[in-house]
Amino acid sequence: MCTACVIDSVARRLGRRGVFSAMAAGAATMALSAAPSRAQQTARSFSRVVEMTHVLGPAFPTFEGGPAIAIERKLSFARDGYNMNQLTYMEHVGTHFDAPLHFSANGPSVAEIPPESLVCPLVVIDVRARAEADADYQLGPEDIAAHERTNGRIAAGSCVALNSGWDAKVATPGFRNATAAGALRFPGFRPDVAPLLLERNVAGVAVDTLSIDHGGSKDFAFHLAWLGAGRWGLECAANLGRLPATGATIIAGAPRIEGGTGGPGRVFALL
Ligand SMILES: [Zn+2]
Repeated sequence: MCTACVIDSVARRLGRRGVFSAMAAGAATMALSAAPSRAQQTARSFSRVVEMTHVLGPAFPTFEGGPAIAIERKLSFARDGYNMNQLTYMEHVGTHFDAPLHFSANGPSVAEIPPESLVCPLVVIDVRARAEADADYQLGPEDIAAHERTNGRIAAGSCVALNSGWDAKVATPGFRNATAAGALRFPGFRPDVAPLLLERNVAGVAVDTLSIDHGGSKDFAFHLAWLGAGRWGLECAANLGRLPATGATIIAGAPRIEGGTGGPGRVFALL
């Protein structure tokens, strides 16, 4: 129902004078709500929001190499009174989640990931120098040890992110970095780091590349170990280089699609 229709139907119920006093009361409420209340000010315990989501369009690079998404305008404002698109995409495109179900027989779907595990401390491990020297670099237990020597033990329930600097390549062929034979080359987590992350009780992991396994992986061993243990992954994260090693909170907005193995979402970090 349109705004004018609502006002019209309310007007019939209240009479003309009643409408104006109701609207004045509404305007006063809006003016009050524009200024944050003391409770709201107290609740806002962050100073900055960092976008961690890339814009998803047909040209966004994909693991398989085809178009990421088809966006078709089905209804238009000029013709139909409102705009609406129909989207067609595989689940694992853009800045997107991997649910445990992606790499397990019957693990939780993306709709079943508990919200408590999606809002958590964000740990960013900077491997940009190593990744620049070696496109196949895999983050291992020694990188976690080096991080913990400087920043302290990774807190239980954290999301651990691999910052390889790859998001700067997202609009270029260097993001997939395919060889002439079609093999992909980009950094990821090394499978033998999974037990250590599980021992720290980490909730999820994030990468700025197309896969939590490195591009050359044939067996997806980190996917199997990590998602198979009931944890989540985030791929193609943006702006990890704008975030501190510790101290940010990630809000990982995974979609709630019934039976979903993952899917694109909206992700922020609060500082
Ligand atoms: Zn994945």
